[in-house]
Amino acid sequence: MMNTNASDSALVLFSGGQDSTTCLFWAMRAFSRVEAVCFLYGQRHACETDTARSIAAELNVPFHLVEVPVLGSLAPSSLTDTSISMDASQPPGGYPNTFVPGRNMLFLTLAAIQARTLGIRNLVTGVSQADYSGYPDCRDTFIRSANVSLNLAMDEHFVIHTPLMWRDKAAVWQLADELGRFDYVRERTITCYKGIPAEGCGSCPSCILRRKGLEEYHQIKQS
Ligand code: ZN
Repeated sequence: MMNTNASDSALVLFSGGQDSTTCLFWAMRAFSRVEAVCFLYGQRHACETDTARSIAAELNVPFHLVEVPVLGSLAPSSLTDTSISMDASQPPGGYPNTFVPGRNMLFLTLAAIQARTLGIRNLVTGVSQADYSGYPDCRDTFIRSANVSLNLAMDEHFVIHTPLMWRDKAAVWQLADELGRFDYVRERTITCYKGIPAEGCGSCPSCILRRKGLEEYHQIKQS
């Protein structure tokens, strides 16, 4: 029998990357019961999902895979369509072609439905407003709005936690370090757009950001 209730349990939106893995460790410290939900939506590399699943298994975290194949066909992006070359730079007045419109709205909704079924009240997501991308659905305002809407939609009392909201990549490394999981996050997660674990390919936009954040964190630590 489970001896926990909805308010001390959390469902982490989990992809096996640096950010969501750090969030998973954060949640494991903050809540007595933690589960993970991973969304499969036609990412270029299925190994990301495999990594997410194996990290969850290593940490004894129940893992739920939710397939959302329609997202890739409704909104082709360079994350799902190999014919589109990856460009994470932000054009004037627009978003990089790694942007999947509505993704976090959809994922938070699906996560809330899953959480309700599991008897979980807290949702944890690794979105960051301080991050490079400037995606509209990573902003604090959106998350607050989504939280209100989800509660109204389901007559529930979900709380969406965003431990990385005001952290840049260096500060995310710092949090992993504070949680005693720096090496684990560095060695086990996949951030690379080419699906290569740990330090990745070294040259895609995601790898460059990850390395830049790591170098900045090393500097902060030494000073
Ligand atoms: Zn890479």
